Amino acid sequence: MDSKGLEERCNRILREMEGSLTARDRVGIQDFVLLDNYTSESAFLDNLRKRFHENLIYTYIGTLLVSVNPYKELGIYSKKQMDIYMGVNFFELPPHIFALADNVYRTMLSETNNHFILISGESGAGKTEACKKVLQFYAVSCPSTRVLDNVRDRLLLSNPVLEAFGNAKTLKNDNSSRFGKYMDIQFDHKGGAVGGHILNYLLEKSRVVHQNHGERNFHIFYQLVEGGEDELLRWLGLERDCQKYSCLVRGNCAKVSSINDKSDWRTVQKAFTVIDFSESDVEHLLAIIASVLHLGNVQFEKGVRGYATLNNSLEVHWLSKLLGIPPQILQQGLTHRKIEAKSEEVLSPFTIDHAKYARDALAKAIYGRTFNWLVGKINESLVNKDSTRKTVIGLIDIYGFEVFQTNSFEQFCINYCNEKLQQLFIQLTLKSEQEEYETEGIEWEPVPYFNNKIICDLVEEKHRGMISVLQDEECLRPGEATDLTFLEKLEETLSGHPHFITLVFTTNRHKLADQKTRKTLDRGDFRLIHYAGEVTYSVKGFLDKNNDLLYRNIKEVMRQSQNNIIKHCFPASEPDSKRRPETVATQFKTSLTGLTEILMSKEPWYVRCVKPNDGKQPGRFDDVIVRHQVKYLGLMEHLRVRRAGFAYRRRYEVFLQRYKPLCPDTWPNWKGTAAEGVQKLVEHLGYKKEEYKMGRTKIFIRHPRTLFATEDAFDV
Ligand code: ATP
Ligand code: MG
Repeated sequence: MDSKGLEERCNRILREMEGSLTARDRVGIQDFVLLDNYTSESAFLDNLRKRFHENLIYTYIGTLLVSVNPYKELGIYSKKQMDIYMGVNFFELPPHIFALADNVYRTMLSETNNHFILISGESGAGKTEACKKVLQFYAVSCPSTRVLDNVRDRLLLSNPVLEAFGNAKTLKNDNSSRFGKYMDIQFDHKGGAVGGHILNYLLEKSRVVHQNHGERNFHIFYQLVEGGEDELLRWLGLERDCQKYSCLVRGNCAKVSSINDKSDWRTVQKAFTVIDFSESDVEHLLAIIASVLHLGNVQFEKGVRGYATLNNSLEVHWLSKLLGIPPQILQQGLTHRKIEAKSEEVLSPFTIDHAKYARDALAKAIYGRTFNWLVGKINESLVNKDSTRKTVIGLIDIYGFEVFQTNSFEQFCINYCNEKLQQLFIQLTLKSEQEEYETEGIEWEPVPYFNNKIICDLVEEKHRGMISVLQDEECLRPGEATDLTFLEKLEETLSGHPHFITLVFTTNRHKLADQKTRKTLDRGDFRLIHYAGEVTYSVKGFLDKNNDLLYRNIKEVMRQSQNNIIKHCFPASEPDSKRRPETVATQFKTSLTGLTEILMSKEPWYVRCVKPNDGKQPGRFDDVIVRHQVKYLGLMEHLRVRRAGFAYRRRYEVFLQRYKPLCPDTWPNWKGTAAEGVQKLVEHLGYKKEEYKMGRTKIFIRHPRTLFATEDAFDV
């Protein structure tokens, strides 16, 4: 069917579904590939806006799904809706996340290969919600048995637990993911979900001890204080009042109207039992959460010689009880540091500032390591006990690109991660797509696009990338380096880079407007021009956060803990002093490289999430904000490549093998080359000339519908 025919059919289906004769006018076009004026950004935006105002938040670009956050419940995710989308050809029904999920699933089963769904977009655009919908769809649509139901429940309930511990309210999103997540769902050959595995990436630990105004700590703290039973709170030494805990009120917004901590607490409690947490696991876990709250309230006083002493022994009492560490040992660990002097170890007392620093480092370490333990524990419960062959669908839900008034090391890492995924998208779609046409000898008008490799290199290149400079700055000059010397090094190494802007230090060193953007930069700031926009970062705290130093003796103190989880998180075998330890950013870079490798071996699918306004409001479509996202997400380029290109391609051998029964000339055996066989086959099937092209090794098919019709021919 040509594109006009396809469009008509889509619209007919739409009309039938909505009982309206003016569907297209009202609801726009459901696949941008069918847009008449497909090179016009305004036409693109008009279509998206029209659909958004009709509560049609999903639109395709071929097989890519664009989703606009409605910021309200639409009632489109019910079991009934799932049933409608199950097993139906992709373009037969209006676009939906379920249609994409179903298509991925069926392709995986028919081709027995691995897939992933990359869900991207800025903070608050709807990635986590999309990810949950996909998971829910599989939970309902996959074959069911008692064993499989068990796996299904675990997969589903791992979510609220991870969200409780890894999500928080930020200024951008009331349920913002503060860690990156990649989740494999494993399927057996019948399509049953038999297991899963989660990889987590760099949790924003600093939130445990500091929150910006209008933001919260991780949800679990508030859930426990608000929802925990009286007896439990008594046992943990907690009061039912968030205001009592300094690490819960730094952002001055413990209560959030869109969040119900009490009911979320009940969900998490239930989830613990389903995902195999024993009573003692839960006890130890909650003891840790409570101990972080107590630790946050630990205050220091100046002792006789000006050094830090502990003044509230009640907090130490609870810490000691909850962590199972004698109080004197804890007290010493919180106020002293062990140093080596002439092959002897001596205790050196902390100043008050130093003690606060060490206390916060401990709180972050306890929470961060416990989070890793949690993921490990969930993974244990998702292990596929049956070793038969399986295929997987991977779901990636990371923290979205974010820009705040003040941006620090955390935003640097988060935005770098988004650059990496954008790079992957470009490589897998725009770049490789066009390269493939070239190598296959298919005539092709190249589509220009912005390649963000230049920014990825700026951050991660060996020796002269920002992460490398950061790593060297600390490791090669321990004790001497400061945030500002790091910035000077950056200036030296990167000055003139088109995506890196900083003040050139002047003698009077005051605020200057930088030449390029005319926005003021403070000394201590640098600006990166990311693919998604400009971000000014404050270098303050970069070195500390990157080093993530935890003193050796406090680790030793933790090792004495009677709490099983703490024991596990602070193992005796932990290497103490590597000569050149990898810092946080370097480790993050390595883990993202690993993720890219995992993804490159699988078939990609995309959901591009768009945020309609900055106010988390339903019904408001802010043209400026959406246009910006359409630009940087590369949607126009993707559309042009799709429009000019071919939705499906198959190697001749694979295509022939699958469809040869449909043609008497090729069945049962074809004697010529695979390409000749395919030619015979498609002629027999009546493919129109403009519908396909023969490349060097593959057949290219313009519309998926052609392939669906061929599939359907089996049933006739
Ligand atoms: P971050 O990068 O900060 O983690 P995100 O892209 O994961 O952001 P979500 O948490 O998925 O964003 O979405 C933010 C909020 O928007 C949700 O809590 C929900 O209120 C609303 N939302 C998102 N998608 C939908 C949807 N499909 N239907 C209704 N509401 C939605
Ligand atoms: Mg999220």
